[in-house]
Amino acid sequence: MAHRKKSRVADRVMHSVDTTHPVHESTSLWGRRRVLLLNSTYEPLTALSMRRAVVMLLCGKADVVHDDPNGPVVHSATHAIVVPSVIRLRSYVRVPYRARIPMTRAALMHRDRFRCAYCGSKADTVDHVVPRSRGGSHTWENCVASCSPCNHRKADRLLTELGWTLRSVPHTPKGQHWRLLSTVKELHPAWVRYLGEGAA
Ligand SMILES: [Zn+2]
Repeated sequence: MAHRKKSRVADRVMHSVDTTHPVHESTSLWGRRRVLLLNSTYEPLTALSMRRAVVMLLCGKADVVHDDPNGPVVHSATHAIVVPSVIRLRSYVRVPYRARIPMTRAALMHRDRFRCAYCGSKADTVDHVVPRSRGGSHTWENCVASCSPCNHRKADRLLTELGWTLRSVPHTPKGQHWRLLSTVKELHPAWVRYLGEGAA
């Protein structure tokens, strides 16, 4: 009888020091904020949720590369951590070859440096070089950044029908930072220096 009571107290103590569930500062903050993860070689890998980034720091799998003095503070039972903007893996991770980088509007705009592929003015739309109605694909090779007037004038015609030319041949970008650009909506200003040329 006495023995059983003692073990129940032990159970309660065990629960009170449980560190597997960090206390949330704000639920929405956890979902919104991203942390850039670099390989041990400083190659950008991905954008992590705050929760995953904090777990990697606490487990000793990653180190802080770029502190964010204004970053949110996260409390667990035993730690208070100012969430950094960039962290780096302690051990190198081999990144498997993946055939294609997904095309997103944001990444396409970055590739074309926010310039219209036809006239060079500021782009605000995506145009299919061979229109979709004429069998054109929704791919890196057939999509370009375009200004609204050019997009409107081109409509569903081919470049040969208009006598237009592209300022450069559209290509699929290569490199990890492009993969990252195609998966995130917003870039933290502190990330830019780690993303390599053409990223910003
Ligand atoms: Zn234009």
